[in-house]
Amino acid sequence: MSQALRKTVPLYIDGEWVESQSDQWIAVTDPATQEVISQVPCASDAEMERAIASAAAAFGSWKEVAVPERARLMLRYQHLLKEHHDELAEILSRETGKTFEDARGDVWRGIEVVEHACNIASLSMGETVENVARSIDCYSYTQPLGVCAGITPFNFPAMIPLWMFPLAIACGNTFILKPSEQDPLTPTRLVELFEQAGAPKGVLQVVHGTKQQVDTLLTHPQIKAISFVGSVAVGEHIYRTGTDNLKRVQCMVGAKNHMVVMPDANKQQVINNLIGAGFGAAGQRCMAISVAVLVGEAQAWVEDLKAAAAAIRPGAWDDPQAAYGPQINPQARDRILSFIEKGKQEGARCVLDGSHCSVEGYPDGNWVGPTIFADVKPEMEIYRNEIFGPVLCVAGVDSLDEALALINGNPMGNGTSLFTACGAAARKFQHQVQVGQVGINVPVPVPLPFFSFTGWRGSFFGDQHAYGKQAVRFYTETKTVTSRWFDEDIPGGPNMTIQLK
Ligand code: NAD
Repeated sequence: MSQALRKTVPLYIDGEWVESQSDQWIAVTDPATQEVISQVPCASDAEMERAIASAAAAFGSWKEVAVPERARLMLRYQHLLKEHHDELAEILSRETGKTFEDARGDVWRGIEVVEHACNIASLSMGETVENVARSIDCYSYTQPLGVCAGITPFNFPAMIPLWMFPLAIACGNTFILKPSEQDPLTPTRLVELFEQAGAPKGVLQVVHGTKQQVDTLLTHPQIKAISFVGSVAVGEHIYRTGTDNLKRVQCMVGAKNHMVVMPDANKQQVINNLIGAGFGAAGQRCMAISVAVLVGEAQAWVEDLKAAAAAIRPGAWDDPQAAYGPQINPQARDRILSFIEKGKQEGARCVLDGSHCSVEGYPDGNWVGPTIFADVKPEMEIYRNEIFGPVLCVAGVDSLDEALALINGNPMGNGTSLFTACGAAARKFQHQVQVGQVGINVPVPVPLPFFSFTGWRGSFFGDQHAYGKQAVRFYTETKTVTSRWFDEDIPGGPNMTIQLK
């Protein structure tokens, strides 16, 4: 067992790892066994206040650190993360249940954002125009905001914290991270490595807890920006409360992602991609495909899909045969099982039922087997809700236009994909679909960090998105300078009008 699986999770305040004095603690459990592997505190008001005060104090000096020096911190951090890749993945597997290879992917996707943050000098460049009027130049800088905060979900405990604090800090801000209380050990290790990379005291703080601690961040006058990833319901609360308190807020929230399959697509490729995108990570991905929209003759492929899904099974994180792990907790599993029941009641055809799933040697795990519903209609609960489990809904339509109308009528707009051999269909789909991340023969089109993660409509509240250039805009103010230097005596008196030249 990794040493990082500690009995209690510390807070990280003012450059020190401290045991919380809180009287409220939450158990962190292994989702495959229910074994309590750690306890995480709900930080007290005084601890929250100390973390925020330390981040505010550190901002004064951190914002003056030269940009190449900030970039070098990110370079050292990237190196350390790669060196500890497997160790991080093991911690992540133990607390989320993800298979080891999937956990490695979670860490890797975060490392790529740190690599992007190494480019902070060119990313944060402003603009210049000479001679905007006679002898007058105009130029802009980006400057950091101050103390920023991030609140992260359980499902990517490495990648999503790394979407946030490296870029915010590279921009010159200080940062307070509030990780998910369900898997706080991975973020703890990430932050230890950041400290080891040479992060100055106070630049990054870690607090733990739930609503009360988040509300402190949302309302505290020292916090300038809030980045949130999680469910729609919590995201709505965060967006409303944060903006009511005049903060800059970005919320990346829930999803219902459709994959459209044209009959000219390669059947085997479609099946392979749907299985990975629908059931990978036990369906606990905001970019998972949860609806397959089979067009025309492709509707006959349901039986092939069923056969392929029936051949995979969940298992423990270190089982190389396991396709995916358990659900994060028993409540999440029970919620998924109730949706499976609901789907049967509301008349969808349950082609493959994973609700009675067991894994040998792990009688207490939160297992759900791969589940497929066919003949799913838009009014059904299983279509209208994000199930966040290994449950694939299949809907049949007659044309690409019908598929587009279905997707564009869904309130969510995180990701979607089209499988086809036809360029014209692909062009039409990518142009007309009202979704922020589109895959053409790519089932889970998560953009790499030099682009941004651009969910639309009900999947995102805010303006600037995560990572890419947009995150740099989110974490900075633009200052525009209009400048003139006199090198001759200007004749005449005061100028009382707007100068046109
Ligand atoms: P969640 O909303 O339950 O929790 C997210 C964070 O909010 C956690 O840190 C939690 O402690 C905190 N929180 C919980 N209740 C709160 C409350 N009442 N007030 C304030 N804070 C609260 O989400 P989750 O179950 O951890 O994650 C799964 C969800 O995240 C799914 O809906 C998924 O689609 C979404 N997600 C979205 C993206 C994206 O980029 N769009 C990425 C990953 C996950």
